[in-house]
Amino acid sequence: MGTVTTARGVYPVPIFMPVGTRGAVRTLDGADLESVGADIVLANAYHLMLRPGPAVVARLGGLHRFMGWERHLLTDSGGFQIHSLSPEVCDEGVTFTSVYDGSRLRCTPESVVEVQVTLGADVQMALDVCTTLPAADDVVRQGVERTLAWAQRARRHFDRLDEKPEGQALFGIVQGGIDPDLRRESAERTVALGFDGYGVGGLSVGEPRSAMLEALAATVPHLPADKPRYLMGVGDPVGIIEAVALGVDQFDCVAPTRMARHGSVLTSTGRLNLRNAIHADGDGPLDPTCNCITCRRWSRGYLRHLLGVGEPIAWRLLTIHNLTFMSRLMADARSAIAWGRLEALRAEIRARWPDRTGGPSGG
Ligand SMILES: [Zn+2]
Repeated sequence: MGTVTTARGVYPVPIFMPVGTRGAVRTLDGADLESVGADIVLANAYHLMLRPGPAVVARLGGLHRFMGWERHLLTDSGGFQIHSLSPEVCDEGVTFTSVYDGSRLRCTPESVVEVQVTLGADVQMALDVCTTLPAADDVVRQGVERTLAWAQRARRHFDRLDEKPEGQALFGIVQGGIDPDLRRESAERTVALGFDGYGVGGLSVGEPRSAMLEALAATVPHLPADKPRYLMGVGDPVGIIEAVALGVDQFDCVAPTRMARHGSVLTSTGRLNLRNAIHADGDGPLDPTCNCITCRRWSRGYLRHLLGVGEPIAWRLLTIHNLTFMSRLMADARSAIAWGRLEALRAEIRARWPDRTGGPSGG
């Protein structure tokens, strides 16, 4: 599709969304995010609902103004985060314990729509049920049915609300574990409800890469090609290029930012572990082909020193580099699509990044 048009403007696809769970991409500010070429950032409605609360964000001008970020924002509904808290799930909604103060909280598809309307991002996600894999067939089926019922309730509630941020989009989420038939069915029935875009959830949760790609291949052809198709929680180069080849437009993952804080650097020749002693005297940049502010100015040896002594600036500079790498990867993918050479790029990336089962997962 090339681009996605919203009330705010246009963003190119395929695209990677840095994760700013609590309203900030860890260690970066808005100017940093612009410098790494981010066009859309993900924030998490679940966390912002608990701290500082949607009403505070609204009083301070909505999420864009709150974060000092004028480009696109997507809020995730928190289905994935809540799922990791061993919640009680029933047809009505989900009850879980707050990670902040231990209180018991209830979310419904309707309440999550309202929280995200109040936050005011450009895209909001419907609440889904993310099933732990491996799971018995009937458990996966129940997750699909509940996700569909919740998607319908979210759609209706969203449509009934009078006061919404101008042009806010609502995305539905496809579930179905790694069962291709269930994935196809979930895709078709979610599309029948009519959303502005579609998330593919519940993948990259520990299953083998081949199973993830099989489930994805069973899903994407049943999603409309003129609406954004978003693979949730996948952000490693091989996972991204394989998914792009299947038609995925949007990605998010905490891995590139989390890895940066641990000294794991993404480069044009593969992964580099900056903690390795070999880099102590490294006079060159992290990646000679990278044009980020970190690579333009500082040596591997200096950055390794900062990391070793725990200077917080190390996390920022490495995060800037890794997110710049992600922006370049996506720009390369877009240009490869435009020039009909996606297969060649896919082969290059697969050769450069030895596959690891599952790859870095989301959350
Ligand atoms: Zn760089």
